[in-house]
Amino acid sequence: MRGIVDFRNRVRPVARENFARLALGQNPDALFIACSDSRVAINVFASTEPGDLFVVRNPGNIVSPAAADGFSVADESEAAAIEFAVGMLQVRDVIVCGHSSCGAMTGLVRGREKVATPHLKSWLRHAERALERIPDRTAPGAADQLSQANALLQLDHLRSYDLVARAEKEGRLRLHAFWFDIANAEVLAHDPEQGRYVPLDEAQAERLLRPDEK
Ligand SMILES: [Zn+2]
Repeated sequence: MRGIVDFRNRVRPVARENFARLALGQNPDALFIACSDSRVAINVFASTEPGDLFVVRNPGNIVSPAAADGFSVADESEAAAIEFAVGMLQVRDVIVCGHSSCGAMTGLVRGREKVATPHLKSWLRHAERALERIPDRTAPGAADQLSQANALLQLDHLRSYDLVARAEKEGRLRLHAFWFDIANAEVLAHDPEQGRYVPLDEAQAERLLRPDEK
C-alpha cells in the first residue's frame, strides 16, 4: 500500500498519459510464463514497460499439458491465457522462464512425496519428468539444473496445445526457455544449436530473433 501511495505521488503524474493510451487496448510482444517467486523481477530484468508482456505466473513456471481432447489436464486458467495470448493477441514469442534457487524445483529434487501441502504436491507432477533430464538429483546444484531442464519440458507441454503447435509450425510463433540467475542478476537463454543456456547478450538476442526480425 505504501508503494501504491508512492506511485500515486511520484509516478502517476508523468505516467498518466501513457496509461490513457494503453487503456484503448493492448498489443504485447510476448507471453511470458514465469515462477511466482518474488525475486523473479520480470519488468526489471527484461526492461519492459506496461503493455509489453502478457504474463502467467505460477509455482515452478509450469504448463500443465493438454490431453488428447485438447483440454488442459489441470489448469484451465493457464490454458485460457495461452489461448488468449496466442490466438487472440497473436504474440510473436512465448517464453518459459525458470530461475535459480527455485523452491518448487528444490521440492522436486528432494522428492515430490515429501511436499507437505496437497495442491503444491499435486501441481509439481507436471514438472516431475524433468528429473529424467538431469544426471543426479542429489548432486550440488541439482535444483538449478532441474529448473533449466524444466523450462524446456514446459515448452513441450506448450506444444501439446494445438494452437501453439500450429502457430510454431507455420512460423508465426517462437518458443524460448530463459533462466534467471538471481545471484548474478543475469538472464540466460537456451540456445537450441548449442544445446545449453547462454547469457542473453546482444549477439545471442540477434541469434534468437533471426531470421525474420533481423
Ligand atoms: Zn520458483
